[in-house]
Amino acid sequence: MFAITKTDPSPGVSTGDVPKPTAGPGEVVIKVAASSICGTDLGLAFDWPRHSATWGSPLPMVLGHECSGFVVDAADDVDIPEGQLVVVETHIFCGECVACRNDAAHNCLNMQIPGVSRDGIWAEYAVIPERALYRVAPGVSPEHAALYEAAGVAMHATQRAGDVDGKVVAVSGAGPVGLFLIAMLKAQGAGDVLVLEPGESRRTMAEQLGATAFDLREKDDFIALARERGVIAGADLAFEVSGAPSAYETLFDTLGKESTLVSIGHTSQPIPVNISRDVNLRVINWKGTFGRHIWSSWDRVDELVRSGKLDLQQFVGLEARLDEIPTILGDAGSVPGKVVVQHAA
Ligand SMILES: [Zn+2]
Ligand SMILES: [Zn+2]
Repeated sequence: MFAITKTDPSPGVSTGDVPKPTAGPGEVVIKVAASSICGTDLGLAFDWPRHSATWGSPLPMVLGHECSGFVVDAADDVDIPEGQLVVVETHIFCGECVACRNDAAHNCLNMQIPGVSRDGIWAEYAVIPERALYRVAPGVSPEHAALYEAAGVAMHATQRAGDVDGKVVAVSGAGPVGLFLIAMLKAQGAGDVLVLEPGESRRTMAEQLGATAFDLREKDDFIALARERGVIAGADLAFEVSGAPSAYETLFDTLGKESTLVSIGHTSQPIPVNISRDVNLRVINWKGTFGRHIWSSWDRVDELVRSGKLDLQQFVGLEARLDEIPTILGDAGSVPGKVVVQHAA
């Protein structure tokens, strides 16, 4: 079958024929319908040595992880109807370790990620354990379903923040997850959402979603407005989505006392933090987030989508075919919203 693969560490990806996978015990073969591209894919494609070291990625490997697909085959011990549309929870969890047994399967101690630590889904077919499949309700298209995984990251971040209703929120970064986050904050009743983002088309989209967007050179206005609107001398909530180390200093300047900071973007290096001034004296509640809470983040995304409160179509920034991935991948990082890839021939 046709697949987009990584065969050597040099920048770029390859296309090739790989064997069609078969289902072992507990597994399901899906015909991949649609997929999307995320920063992790770009890291592995163009900066293999650093990113493969983080994840222990094997060579050769089929790339890609975010996708939807139709069930075409399943092991005898699996009960799932053929033709069922599913989405892959890309943090493939074991279901047995201490993290999994303590409601933290997103942080499974034996986690595998398709296209990162095992063969991925930029192919005609993929094999996934049944326990890591989310069944999609009728009425949701495969293209929109493929966005649930990335949208779920933003949802998990809002869950980590707690009640967002009426809150004044500062966000740094309006890439795909930042944009999903803005939409979810608004759909869940947040008050002012102030966004710092260098890309003009992303700022425009953030504004369309109801945020007030600032360019980097308007950083002081971003901070001033957060301090003016927030309850105790600054924003009630902040989300760092960009992964840019410099964003933290700015976000701390926006935050009020007794506020909450959620970090989503992975910084490429450690950052200095003024613990006394910025964390302790303000009594900041600082939370990390990784992946989606299984399965509540998925259910909440699904609820927003099916109730019409979250229109996923507006996040489709570019549509492409599977065989076009090698040509579009270089520019995928600057698309406002997500690249959605059609897998059907
Ligand atoms: Zn991803
Ligand atoms: Zn586990």
